[in-house]
Amino acid sequence: MSVKPVAYQPHWSDRFYLFAVLKGMVITLKHFFKKKYTVQYPEVKWPVPKGHRGAIRLNKDEQGRMLCVACEMCSTACPAKCITMKAAVSPWPDREKYPLTFEINMLRCILCGMCQEACPEKAIELTEIYDFSAYTRQDLIWDRERLLKNYDLTCDGRYFERSREETGL
Ligand code: SF4
Ligand code: SF4
Repeated sequence: MSVKPVAYQPHWSDRFYLFAVLKGMVITLKHFFKKKYTVQYPEVKWPVPKGHRGAIRLNKDEQGRMLCVACEMCSTACPAKCITMKAAVSPWPDREKYPLTFEINMLRCILCGMCQEACPEKAIELTEIYDFSAYTRQDLIWDRERLLKNYDLTCDGRYFERSREETGL
């Protein structure tokens, strides 16, 4: 014997949606006072965990000189082949060479960190900067100055406290 389906008939009190509205408002109020997980990006940035592999920087020594000695270990280790440099005789007596030009093509970089691992001078490092972008492809080919600027922005660990004007990102 087949059972005849009965059409749903809402109770008269359901037609006011009063309980549903009140229930919804209670849920909204409950979340209103809870800790918020959204941030007002880009004015506020979400700090990433330690060890995050973001934009690359070229490190400097205490005298503000770049640490790189143009040994090309990083470019040899790079699986994406995105590092190029031109070595020149160093102007400083404590090393033979330095990079006259140093370029990283961030369009190809996969942020693997192999360059950092390979560097004998701790001169190249990945940073917490995750929000880099550009309007042109050319702007994502970073030269020596841009890579040194990344060092200035991150060396004191205060990158996420800096304003957008200061970072230029
Ligand atoms: S992070 Fe990886 S892909 Fe990017 S430059 Fe370094 S070695 Fe190359
Ligand atoms: S960044 Fe390090 S590995 Fe790369 S050329 Fe400079 S010193 Fe050598």
